[in-house]
Amino acid sequence: MEDIVFGKVAAMVYVVEFQKRGLPHAHFLIILEDAYNLKGPSDYDKFVTAEIPSLECPQLRKIVLGHMMHGPCGILNPKCTCMIKEHGSEVICKYSYPKPYLEETTTNEDGFPILLHHSSGQIPVQVCVQGHDRVSFNVVGQQNQGVYEINDFQSGRWVSPCEAAWRIFGFDLFEMTPSVQLLPVHLPNMQTIYMRSHEQLNVVVQDEKRSTTALTEFLRLNATIPGGTRYRYT
Ligand SMILES: [Zn+2]
Repeated sequence: MEDIVFGKVAAMVYVVEFQKRGLPHAHFLIILEDAYNLKGPSDYDKFVTAEIPSLECPQLRKIVLGHMMHGPCGILNPKCTCMIKEHGSEVICKYSYPKPYLEETTTNEDGFPILLHHSSGQIPVQVCVQGHDRVSFNVVGQQNQGVYEINDFQSGRWVSPCEAAWRIFGFDLFEMTPSVQLLPVHLPNMQTIYMRSHEQLNVVVQDEKRSTTALTEFLRLNATIPGGTRYRYT
């Protein structure tokens, strides 16, 4: 993380996921301390580029072309999985590729950067076409001798070799700094009470303990503190 992050981290959270072919990937949210925050286009350009590395950086160029390219979609490949119908019949890429060329980094109306992307000096590159999603299955004939419950009720969970190894080695699947806990907020007597299907509603309602929440217990605790200091529910 220290190699990736460009400044002091104030708070961060990540989760590791395994999808499709099973390779691990992480979703990160990183909040930098104010002095390191990227505040505008000139800051973004210092750290991020949306351009294909030049031939002078062959190793980086190979990595970007192999892993960071979208498509081909649009007119070149109208059946690409990213192509969706919009406004009636027009079929467009749901990620808005190909992106327009841009001579300067700007910020869009939601505050997200739109990175510079020069139209000049680029050599056309071949993008490798990705494979399709697949599933293995078999077809079995209708059996006359009644229901075979094992076949009818098989349910499975697919753990890829990468995920199995990750879990066996005990690698973290998430991390959060600082810890954050979501606190419930509700109007008096409007909290959610959970019950199991075998329980009787009138019994559950009469059990006072079942209607406690973090908020009710916070209010109860604060009421016991004479004057002065009060805890805060943030
Ligand atoms: Zn696309």
